Amino acid sequence: MKIEEIYIKVLKEVYLCDHCLGRLFGQLLSGLDNEERGKIIRYYLAFLIDSGEKIDINLANFYGINFRNVKIEIPQPPKCFICENFFDEKIDELVKHVIEKLSKFEFESFLIGSIIPRRILSVEEKVWEKVNLEWVEPIKAEVNRELGKLVEKFTKKRFELKNPDITILVDLENDRISLQVRSLYIFGKYKKLVRGIPQTKWLCSKCRGKGCIACKGTGKLYATSVQEEIEKPLLKATGAKKSSLHSSGREDIDARCLDWRTFIIELVKPMKRKIDLKKLQREINKSKKVKVSAMKIIKEGKFFIRKLKTEKLDKSYLAEVKFEKSIEKKKLKELKKLTLEPIVQKTPLRVLHRRADKFRKRLIKKISWKLLGRKNLQLKIRAESGLYIKELITGDEGRTKPNVAEILENKVKKIILDVVKIHGRIKI
Ligand SMILES: [Zn+2]
Ligand SMILES: [Zn+2]
Repeated sequence: MKIEEIYIKVLKEVYLCDHCLGRLFGQLLSGLDNEERGKIIRYYLAFLIDSGEKIDINLANFYGINFRNVKIEIPQPPKCFICENFFDEKIDELVKHVIEKLSKFEFESFLIGSIIPRRILSVEEKVWEKVNLEWVEPIKAEVNRELGKLVEKFTKKRFELKNPDITILVDLENDRISLQVRSLYIFGKYKKLVRGIPQTKWLCSKCRGKGCIACKGTGKLYATSVQEEIEKPLLKATGAKKSSLHSSGREDIDARCLDWRTFIIELVKPMKRKIDLKKLQREINKSKKVKVSAMKIIKEGKFFIRKLKTEKLDKSYLAEVKFEKSIEKKKLKELKKLTLEPIVQKTPLRVLHRRADKFRKRLIKKISWKLLGRKNLQLKIRAESGLYIKELITGDEGRTKPNVAEILENKVKKIILDVVKIHGRIKI
């Protein structure tokens, strides 16, 4: 099919704007946009007609062109058969709304996508029946590109396919614009200096955060958490709605963590991205409960969160254990046996209500001890990641084997636990 035959066949019946006409040949020539392609074809046809050729075309397609030789009456065109004048009349207004929505957010890069109304897609398909499909470009591609160009022009921000700060979705079917704002991910390390606070915010199970009598209206089980101590200044500075804290493992609520533990805090839907992390770090460090260091913004947050969660680092613990009876000194050296074979642990009774009942095997790499009194023993234990340390000491009613209580033939009354060293480091 020759190119002239195509456009004569299409334009005989309907009026198309330059964009939609040019898009039928969008895969021919580069360095032109579709509007330019359409204009060139339209003017070429006008030349033919003004030179006296008789071509059967809907004359509205020549509206605004001045013929010199032929005398023809040119009617006002109806709306473009395909786009309903989207490119000529609607796009600017739409971009204005997009810019307005974007103005609340600080961002460097964006991506734009659209939903094209069904009726337009089906009209476009009808027109495609008359043309060479290898040359066409779909309207969606042009809408996205033209919107992108305009947003880039007005905001001076860059269009980016991978990891854009904001993804704009323009739904032309339902006349809706929505923004997906990428979370801001901040890497850092923390120490937990006090006992009695959980790592992450723990919602009240009765009201699930709404606030009730049981939680005295706070919606939470604990007054604060590592997460809350870290997030407070960050939420304020970024205007983010909420945060999630991700880390490699967690210490028990009643244990301190005296070595730096790596974390990534995700700030959801931030309005600001340029923040003074040094200043914010100082602000967080006013907390008596939690200290942070090495905070930095990272781009590939999700990737590093996965990495953080799969990383297995040995930990060393210091435990002060109080026993029921006096400790028999000669039994102490038998504790070395714990390093000879893997410790087999069933899911601890204390977490059985929220975790599946399974076995795990972990190694004790090192164990040493110091008597602190007749019934008091200090244990220093280096263990593989994931070993339940309290259960290693108490035996958890036989669910952990071998265990300290069994070896010493003594019942445990109390354990005070600290993570004192996290071995190795996660590179980010
Ligand atoms: Zn059009
Ligand atoms: Zn409650």
